[in-house]
Amino acid sequence: MRGICIFKKRYTSRLLAGRLPARLYAQGISKLNKRNFLIVAGGFALFTALQLSSTQNRVAIKASPHIKKWQKDDKFWHEQLTPTQYAILRTGATEPRFSSQYTNFYEVGTYSCQGCDLELFTADMKYDSNTGWPSFSDHIHGHLETYTDLKGMWPKTGYRCARCAGHHGHLIMDGPLPTGQRWCNNGQVLKFKGV
Ligand SMILES: [Zn+2]
Repeated sequence: MRGICIFKKRYTSRLLAGRLPARLYAQGISKLNKRNFLIVAGGFALFTALQLSSTQNRVAIKASPHIKKWQKDDKFWHEQLTPTQYAILRTGATEPRFSSQYTNFYEVGTYSCQGCDLELFTADMKYDSNTGWPSFSDHIHGHLETYTDLKGMWPKTGYRCARCAGHHGHLIMDGPLPTGQRWCNNGQVLKFKGV
């Protein structure tokens, strides 16, 4: 686009200097405008294709219908959670990398939701993804549900607690086999209980 602007400036300065007839100037600018349009349209088509491919790669995982959903107001959550936990669970924020005590932590036990205590992962699901966030190759089925997170530039698969609907992290399909899943969780909203 910068190159196109330079060409436009050159056409205009040649016109002003009397070295370019007005008819040729108009033709030149029209060609540049068409090129401009094709570049913008091409960029938009690529953006849409990437979005569609990202949508197709997303996985829909549902919560168990046997888990009773909590209906709590905002006041309850502010009293129950620290400001960081509130930002993650209730507004979908992400903690800084390597900021939680569970990033490099491999004790035997269970990880539950800081908001409502529902068990979400067991220690044998945890692995080192080297991303700076606690990562799990699977979850306790029925205790998490996925949703489409539209907050960033690309749609992502977010997931939340089946009971309190607190946002926990994102599901990315680059995890170890056999699931291929990486449940990339904010460690500050997990509660660990050893055996
Ligand atoms: Zn919860």
